[in-house]
Amino acid sequence: MKQVVVLGATGSVGQSTLDVLALHPNDYTVLGLSAHSRMAELADLVRLHKPSYVAVPNAEAVQDLKHALGATPLPTVLLGEEGLCQLAALQQATHVVAAIVGAAGLPSCIAAAQAGKTILLANKEALVMAGSFFLQAVKDGGATLLPLDSEHNALFQCLPAGQGKIDASVRRVWLTASGGPFLKRDAATLHSVTPDEACKHPKWSMGRKISVDSATLMNKGLEVIEAALMYGLLAERVKVAIHPQSTIHALVQYVDGSLLAHLSHPDMRVPIAQALAYPQRIESGVPDLDMTVLESLSFAAPDVAHFPCLALAYQALRLGQHGCIALNAANEVAVEAFLNGSLLFSQIPVVVKHVLETSDAWITPSNIEDVYVLDRQARALAELLIRSL
Ligand code: NAD
Ligand code: MG
Repeated sequence: MKQVVVLGATGSVGQSTLDVLALHPNDYTVLGLSAHSRMAELADLVRLHKPSYVAVPNAEAVQDLKHALGATPLPTVLLGEEGLCQLAALQQATHVVAAIVGAAGLPSCIAAAQAGKTILLANKEALVMAGSFFLQAVKDGGATLLPLDSEHNALFQCLPAGQGKIDASVRRVWLTASGGPFLKRDAATLHSVTPDEACKHPKWSMGRKISVDSATLMNKGLEVIEAALMYGLLAERVKVAIHPQSTIHALVQYVDGSLLAHLSHPDMRVPIAQALAYPQRIESGVPDLDMTVLESLSFAAPDVAHFPCLALAYQALRLGQHGCIALNAANEVAVEAFLNGSLLFSQIPVVVKHVLETSDAWITPSNIEDVYVLDRQARALAELLIRSL
């Protein structure tokens, strides 16, 4: 029996994970769930999945959860960031699904790594900001890191022996990008897009932060860094192609001219089922692709002139870990400002570029504490700039 902890259970990836787990009650137990808000939704998940533990941010959330649970018994409650780390490191836990959004997910990812868990990583921001320190924690803790991000999961499956390992037979990898909701929009009107327009993704149903990232192409930028770190690739060996149908998720180019692709419906339950069962296979609940009715597949180069965030991510990757921290932190602050109406969509790359270029002079982090210091520094700078715009 695999015992699964889902960090970020009320989110889009968290829900998809619980949908897959519900198909296999004899093989998986839901051991613990975390949520940061929406306690009524967490209460519904507790009733349905009966976890032994929940992690919530504070005492007020516990009261809300109790109220929403009514007669349903309250699981053991863990509180705050420390509680999230305890949940991620529970002795009985075999698998930890890291589906919190943003830098807030890093401490619990590190805790799961140090405790030697199998980590199913959706929280790309944690890897982008902590880079080699996260990977070292995985190694030192004897943990296993499996990608949930659909492109990285696709690469994992297309790489030699399906084990996510690069060797000399691999020339480069390709990540595909849908292009987001503004692929065909006149670039001159990008300044006036609203948060709701930016969050209306044509192919995937996701949380608001990653939806905005998809609209700016920063999501693909973060994924380029994620792929480079996860598979030990230099920036020039990670390529991006726009593929509006989102049927092919990633491809691996081999030296003999073979190009291996992974196809599926754009549904996170596919990579989640793959990673939960690895190295076996289980049903995900997603229908098979019918090759006789598949719409035509098209590809194009990304337009980095109108969507500069992708180019900024390559720049950050070449700069090093401090560049990646600056890029991620500035982007999180800028996206939040856009979502609450205090920044224009077209100003997101302006903020990121400024913070990234300033970070050139920063120290190279030498441990995880430095990562948090630089993250705070980048956030403060981004906030200052946003107030002045
Ligand atoms: P979401 O906004 O739907 O859910 C986020 C979850 O994190 C929620 O459960 C929320 O309660 C929790 N959370 C938010 N802020 C928190 C905080 N400060 N502390 C603790 N918990 C907090 O997001 P999502 O779309 O499910 O994405 C989650 C992560 O997975 C992101 O890193 C995203 O980039 C990545 N991802 C998502 C998808 C997708 O299809 N949604 C695909 C690939 C990767
Ligand atoms: Mg992705």
